[in-house]
Amino acid sequence: MSDPTEVHVPDIGDFSDVPVIEIHVAPGDEVAAEDPLVTLESDKATMDVPSPSAGVVAELRVKIGDRVAEGSVLLTLQGGDGEGESAGADSGESARSESSGSEGADSGASSAGAELGDAPAPAAETAEGDKAQVSREPAPAAQDDGDYDADVIVIGSGPGGYTAAFRAADLGLKTVLVERDDRLGGVCLNVGCIPSKALLHAARVIAEAREMSERGIRFSEPQIDLHALLEWKLSVVDKLTGGLAAMARGRKVEVVKGQARFTGPHELEVGERTLSFRAAIIAVGSEPATLPHLPDDARIIDSTAALSPPDIPSRLLVIGGGIIGLEMACVYDALGTRVTVVEMLDQLLPGADPDLVRPLHKRIADRYAGIHLETKVAGIEAGDDGLRVELEGGGESSTYERVLVSVGRRANGGNLSAEAAGVEVNDRGQIATDAQMRTNVPWIYAIGDVTDGPMLAHKATHEGKVAAEVIAGDEGAAFDARTIPSVAYTDPEVAWMGLTETAAKEQGSEYEKAVFPWSASGRAMSLAREDGLTKLLLEPGSRRVLGAGIVGVNAGDLIAETVHAYEMGADAEDLALTIHPHPTLSETVGFAAEVGLGTITDLPPKRR
Ligand code: FAD
Repeated sequence: MSDPTEVHVPDIGDFSDVPVIEIHVAPGDEVAAEDPLVTLESDKATMDVPSPSAGVVAELRVKIGDRVAEGSVLLTLQGGDGEGESAGADSGESARSESSGSEGADSGASSAGAELGDAPAPAAETAEGDKAQVSREPAPAAQDDGDYDADVIVIGSGPGGYTAAFRAADLGLKTVLVERDDRLGGVCLNVGCIPSKALLHAARVIAEAREMSERGIRFSEPQIDLHALLEWKLSVVDKLTGGLAAMARGRKVEVVKGQARFTGPHELEVGERTLSFRAAIIAVGSEPATLPHLPDDARIIDSTAALSPPDIPSRLLVIGGGIIGLEMACVYDALGTRVTVVEMLDQLLPGADPDLVRPLHKRIADRYAGIHLETKVAGIEAGDDGLRVELEGGGESSTYERVLVSVGRRANGGNLSAEAAGVEVNDRGQIATDAQMRTNVPWIYAIGDVTDGPMLAHKATHEGKVAAEVIAGDEGAAFDARTIPSVAYTDPEVAWMGLTETAAKEQGSEYEKAVFPWSASGRAMSLAREDGLTKLLLEPGSRRVLGAGIVGVNAGDLIAETVHAYEMGADAEDLALTIHPHPTLSETVGFAAEVGLGTITDLPPKRR
């Protein structure tokens, strides 16, 4: 047997003395060429060092926290030629085009419960894969001879419900929209997507003003008029929800206010009123999940209360490191609260690839009082001086002024006596549908958060259109999106779609990876935000786009191009040859595709 060969840190651009933050292999592990061995992190970028060749790891020469530079020995490899060709090793910083397969050691994070975006991005979500769970139990007989009050009644006016109602009306159906709240718009417009993004914008302005002090422009500390800020947030909500009411009137959609309850297969009650329907669409959404055994105390809040605080707390504990928890953490941090986050799993944003989460984790770890992974809240005791929180796993027990419980959302399918219509609801409050959004009762449909899949507004709206079109007679309409993109509007934003590396490794799917680090983007530099990367996962051989992930400012907007590419079956060449305006962050998508093709000129050359 030949002597093991040393694997050195390759040319990593202008960096020296960078810490090892992750080691992906252990002695005895078999590695393929290009498998990630260790991850290094400079103040600008994180970079994986790939294996230069296949072999077995003989000895590790570094440990987490060690600082290394070009040429440092990382490990020895039996059966490898440590100095062999390596795309990643030669392409500088974290740019790389790697192949990886089932042998990947990274177990990644498991998916959390149902929360916004927590659903892991599946390899290829198809209508068949996601939706064909409707039971084969015989449904009640349709009474098609009826003289109904409405062609279609939509229950719930969130993004799913109002979209379905408006589309149905536009297709000529007599439509009734039932909503129990005073205002139309559901969670998204009233206490979800929109108000949270308004507050996140305020947070971003505060952060940017602070950051400019290092670049020659100094503002005094912000004076926060919380009342005025919340009034502005409310005015945005009012404008949108008021607009919905006007659009409903314009389409002659009758809006009925009150809680709907089925009383039969073609009938429901709203307060005193009984309404019959030819078809119904259930769009009753979801509500925040709670934790058992918490004291009943107004200082323990959910996301709805967190969006309208009476004052700015000095210390906030966020239970749950998913999208909603981290977005709220970002807002409170900017407003001056000392924020601590606890997450039960081993990474923030479960479901997102670890390399996308890392820049976010790094930034907030510097700012927040604490981030505790693999940690549970064992109990909370309410006292006069605050909420005493006992932690289990990591971090110290401490006292907080407020605690935000952000541990997922629960579907509302249990609140409308669905059984009276024969509609099956599972014990998690969800209603199964087929690809045309039909429940087990063929004339009753369900859409949005109350159905299976990620709890996201853009999923609800697309499903709403499908249900309305099928009811209007378009049998070809179906929810057959290949992917539903996920975005955390944190700072930096994290966005992903299609295949994730974590899922690929779990499934043993082959893929090539192409990463463009934002430290090489002129636009990112001019924004002083080089803490980002754009990653494409490509099908080996064809280089068709299988998935993408972006972390950095505006990642949520940037991911849209890759979603389009994926839906159109585009490949890396399509993206690379598309002329992106310069200088923009959108260029990083084209550059990542060039990394995949080996035609990138905006990075150091590959060493021969
Ligand atoms: P909902 O919006 O939940 O609407 C359901 C409606 O039905 C409600 O108005 C409710 O009052 C009504 N209703 C319920 N039961 C009945 C009944 N029996 N009778 C009459 N009416 C009834 N998603 C994103 O895509 N992007 C984001 O940035 C985003 N940010 C979010 C931030 C926060 C803080 C939260 C909490 C959620 C966020 N979401 C986001 C998730 C998004 O809000 C939901 O996925 C979306 O609102 C689901 O739409 P829906 O139509 O299914 O139901």
